[in-house]
Amino acid sequence: MTQEPTVSVNDVAAFREAVLRKLTYSVGKDPEHAFDHDWFEAIALATRDHVIDHWMEHTRQSYRGGQKRVYYLSLEFLIGRLLIDSLSNLGILDTARQALAELDVDIERIRALEPDAALGNGGLGRLAACFMESMSTLGIAAHGYGIRYEHGLFRQVIVDGWQHEQTETWLDFGNPWEFERPEVSYLIGFGGHVTAVNENGRQKHFWHWAEGVRSIAYDTPIVGWRGASVNTLRLWRARAEADFHLERFNAGDHIGAFAEGARAESISRVLYPNDSTEAGQELRLRQEYFFVAASLQDLLRRHLKQRGTLDSLPQFASIQLNDTHPAIAVAELMRLLVDVHGYEWERAWELTVGTLSYTNHTLLPEALETWPVGLMERLLPRHMQIIYLINAHHIDSLRARDNHNIELLRSVSLIEEDHGRRVRMGNLAFLGSHSINGVSALHTELMRKTVFRDLYGLYPERINNKTNGITFRRWLYQANPKLTGLVVEALGEAVLDSPESLLRGLEPFAEQAEFRRRFAEQRLENKRVLARLIRERVGVTVDPNALFDVQVKRIHEYKRQLLNLLHTVALYHAIRNDPGAPWVPRVKILAGKAAASYHQAKLIIKLANDIARTVNDDPTVRGLLKVVFLPNYNVSLAEQIIPAADLSEQISTAGLEASGTSNMKFALNGALTIGTLDGANVEMSEQIGLEHMFIFGLTAQQVEARKRAGEYNAEAIAIESPRLNEVLEAIRNGAFSSDDPGRYTGLIDGLKWHDTFFVCADFEAYWQAQLEVEARWRDPARWWRSAVLNTARTGWFSSDRTIRQYAGEIWKVLDDK
Ligand SMILES: *Cc1c(COP(=O)(O)O)cnc(C)c1O
Repeated sequence: MTQEPTVSVNDVAAFREAVLRKLTYSVGKDPEHAFDHDWFEAIALATRDHVIDHWMEHTRQSYRGGQKRVYYLSLEFLIGRLLIDSLSNLGILDTARQALAELDVDIERIRALEPDAALGNGGLGRLAACFMESMSTLGIAAHGYGIRYEHGLFRQVIVDGWQHEQTETWLDFGNPWEFERPEVSYLIGFGGHVTAVNENGRQKHFWHWAEGVRSIAYDTPIVGWRGASVNTLRLWRARAEADFHLERFNAGDHIGAFAEGARAESISRVLYPNDSTEAGQELRLRQEYFFVAASLQDLLRRHLKQRGTLDSLPQFASIQLNDTHPAIAVAELMRLLVDVHGYEWERAWELTVGTLSYTNHTLLPEALETWPVGLMERLLPRHMQIIYLINAHHIDSLRARDNHNIELLRSVSLIEEDHGRRVRMGNLAFLGSHSINGVSALHTELMRKTVFRDLYGLYPERINNKTNGITFRRWLYQANPKLTGLVVEALGEAVLDSPESLLRGLEPFAEQAEFRRRFAEQRLENKRVLARLIRERVGVTVDPNALFDVQVKRIHEYKRQLLNLLHTVALYHAIRNDPGAPWVPRVKILAGKAAASYHQAKLIIKLANDIARTVNDDPTVRGLLKVVFLPNYNVSLAEQIIPAADLSEQISTAGLEASGTSNMKFALNGALTIGTLDGANVEMSEQIGLEHMFIFGLTAQQVEARKRAGEYNAEAIAIESPRLNEVLEAIRNGAFSSDDPGRYTGLIDGLKWHDTFFVCADFEAYWQAQLEVEARWRDPARWWRSAVLNTARTGWFSSDRTIRQYAGEIWKVLDDK
């Protein structure tokens, strides 16, 4: 047994007094009349004071120590709430809990009031947030750079089964974690034209931009575990140079006077709600350039101040590009070095490639970012020239190496000529970086063979793998205190500091019936809490003893929520056909947002809700199967769902999920995975053991072979499988949509004609795997043994491990980490 955490009375009293002071002097309320939200603000401000002490100390240290700095550029940071995160990492969560109890304030109620900062769409943005926390934990001097969107990812409401998008307003009550830095501000240009003059035999270029937008910095401190160090997340807001045009206003144009300002400020107004597919809108390119230009100017200024020269940039700075969204950094860094700082082209290129590295996140062709040359020329004329010049040098050097293969030259060019002329941001990021990494072993291998096949042939040493990870602080310690308590009881406090190596110590406990019982008991308690939430949010009553079968993630065809729904209907039919059989009671839980313009994904949400209504209301099912779609999936909801899951659905078409990270969150919390050999599932099966997961379906290679052969016929498969056929016909003919019987005709016919994601091909294997799930569930000793082993063997998926690999192999910082 570990000891009760020792909390000094003084600490408790001090925290209590600090909160009261903040409530009085910062919020301006007395305790008698304070609303919960006032308390939240006071508590957050009191917590922030603790953070600031560590922050200043760490910032001073990193300046003094002259450490190399890491800059993580990401258009998305899916942060979630910060109150419990900060208290927990500072080690004062219990102190705070006790202090608030003395004030008669329930911290759990206050916790729920914090808006969920959703400045990202899904996995990519959440990865950036986990990385920030791990970099602070490992003591790496890092800055995150992104955009301070006024409106984050939309709020999803479900009306009559359909998704509707509502504006997200996380800043309505202010944001206690951030510091506005009006003095840290850069003017970012757009449009205009370029002139060249000859200076001492050298062409010098001047970009006369037409429109200037001001970037204002907002800093949020990110605390590492046990306050190890505190780094800064710097997000930029766009502000017009002048609020409005006074002369136009005085001339009577009261609306037009504000138009330019509104256009400038729209840059940081709203996050593009697209996951995996690019919007291709001008505003998106403006966002990308805006935050890249502000961040590069900021970090060059810091470097110059500290080192006096940019010659040493690669030695003391690493800039990681999270996907191609910041890829314009290649051209912007070249512009700054050549046009502003007077470097020769070749030297500037060395510095650029030496400093930048790029993480690829997707192989989906529709998600590979390209921009029309015309748009680039209009918005960023100097950058377009630079891109042409990079391309010319690149192609020339290939010809010099005797590469005259036209096909090769076409494929590695920065300019795509086939579909109108477009700039390929993936190729730009690749050429301008010394390291290009994928996010799981399989994804990196496929990257070498597909998107970057030809560039890989030219620069094989540049591509490497960094399998994603998650921060255990948020996804185990904070999200699941009950399981954390059990693990600490078994392995001691030290496991919290070194879970990567020590969690394995749980393996022998998997053999102990008493430990398995307690492991199952903590799950049941979490499931009771989730059952309550389900009743409150969607009015469905579920039995906490049933198998909680969960698929939560963005809704996308390649993630195959549809396959899960087909299984749901097949199970429903089977129960109706034989209601007396000993069925395993099951609750299917789904959640996730669809991009507002993604009609097929929105139809799948409607189908989930149609199936839920039909199944939940059917008396012959007698509650053996329940279906729940929880609205508005976000980090906070994930923190409540994942610790209560028994079964984790990771069933993407093999070869299409780059890594996945929710697969890791579930396994860490002891859920068993049903999944394909895709993304990081492959490495999970190596760590955890195939026998403790339910792996099924086509492999990436088999999918590829079928595509190549071109003879895949989904309809034939459906005809051969009476079970699948019955499911498809029922949905197609309106069994779940009697109000609009034709609603799913197109969906099902489409599936039969061109089943792009091999849903039908994998259906039978999935059904069989689900039968194995039920068999295991019926044998609790086996189920809970596997569950304990999942937790024990997931240590490798800590984002601390991932960041250590980036630090050692790409950034070359802190060789001892
Ligand atoms: C972890 C996480 C994701 C990523 O989920 P995948 O299943 O890996 O796609 C998306 N959204 C939220 C809120 C998350 O916490």
